[in-house]
Amino acid sequence: MLAVNGIPTPENLAEVFPSQERLAKGPVAIAECFQNIPCDPCYHSCKQGAIQEFADINERPRIHFDQCNGCGTCMSRCPGLAIFVVDATFSDNEALVKIPYEFLPLPQVDERVIAVNRAGQEVGEVRVIRVQNSKIQDKTAIVWLAVPKEQMMEVRHFKIKEVR
Ligand code: SF4
Ligand code: SF4
Repeated sequence: MLAVNGIPTPENLAEVFPSQERLAKGPVAIAECFQNIPCDPCYHSCKQGAIQEFADINERPRIHFDQCNGCGTCMSRCPGLAIFVVDATFSDNEALVKIPYEFLPLPQVDERVIAVNRAGQEVGEVRVIRVQNSKIQDKTAIVWLAVPKEQMMEVRHFKIKEVR
């Protein structure tokens, strides 16, 4: 339960997930931001107008999924590391899950890392496809993981197997 252990319930998640139909069309952002806090850089960062303007800075973000192209710009701007991009069209069997990541060392492309779910439980090994860590990301790297499609709405973090 979110208020007790920080883990969103299926009901919490249902409020912020795109439809299966939208997921099937390609990359889309998901804001797993569940608390009313004074924060809105996600809204200001989206040049597509896909995040609804906040009437009050304490509102939670609302993404208009059909306007979102999955660019991921909002991910690095979110201080809560609460925004992910999922691309169900990556391959027949795998989806891309883009994870905001502020630990060091960063993983390397093609490295196999241990995917974990929202509760921190390991769900399997996955492959790193890309690491975005330019000035634009401003020290919040975006790590692209190829995950089995059936885990794309579950994998939300990862662990490096061996700290170099
Ligand atoms: S992924 Fe890009 S288009 Fe989608 S909400 Fe974030 S900034 Fe906007
Ligand atoms: S920037 Fe992140 S933490 Fe702040 S309102 Fe947007 S999604 Fe929530």
